[in-house]
Amino acid sequence: MTDSNQNKIIIAIDGYSSCGKSTIAKEIAKKLNYIFIDSGAMYRAVTLYCLRAGVVVNGEINLPVLQESLKKIRITFVFNPLTAHNDVCLNGENVEQEIRQLAVAQNVSQIAAIAAVRQLLVAQQQEMGRSKGIVMDGRDIGTVVFPSAELKIFMTADARIRAQRRYDEMIAKNEPVDFDEILKNINERDRFDETREESPLRKAADAIVLDNSHMTRDEQFEWILSKVEERVF
Ligand code: C5P
Repeated sequence: MTDSNQNKIIIAIDGYSSCGKSTIAKEIAKKLNYIFIDSGAMYRAVTLYCLRAGVVVNGEINLPVLQESLKKIRITFVFNPLTAHNDVCLNGENVEQEIRQLAVAQNVSQIAAIAAVRQLLVAQQQEMGRSKGIVMDGRDIGTVVFPSAELKIFMTADARIRAQRRYDEMIAKNEPVDFDEILKNINERDRFDETREESPLRKAADAIVLDNSHMTRDEQFEWILSKVEERVF
């Protein structure tokens, strides 16, 4: 596959929570020598800021304070040589680990539903894709961020299978977790993301569905790569 800029495309991967979108997107980006951007990490970093700054108290968002806070939030990515991927930074601080905690997961969908938050992050995401050669995963990448993306994939999997995968991941990291709490969080985030007014999670008309409930990572990788090849050659 040629590496020249004119053949580079935009790959948009959207779908439900904990489908393994970022994992597969990272692998595809590495293979193609493309940039990988986890847009969910950007919404999580904004949420972390809000939790720390007291913008969210007992699940309630203080909108005027949020508007003010947005002016002070700078989201960037830094290459992590240990993982060979980009970590998200909040005002210069690497928060890649902290944004994965349950407190952030429990508040992120509410923060991501706010128009001002989306405007800020979507503008940054579009800038990142200006030269193409990018794989971005999220909820609105094929519908709002890159409606002209050459390849759009909509990922889904059975909710219990997704919860089990997340549970196994957290247990492997020695984090105290409860399966039912994870399943509840996944179902709540999906419902919230699908029903919000601002850029709801939905499959773009021209996206292709990848249900990975019973697929290995290698099978998913090969499947996506074959779709890339159809578009690049
Ligand atoms: O992808 P991840 O699960 O890390 O995303 C966290 C949350 O951020 C999602 O549940 C969703 O509410 C929000 N999100 C979004 N739009 C995106 C990416 C994530 O609203 N493009």
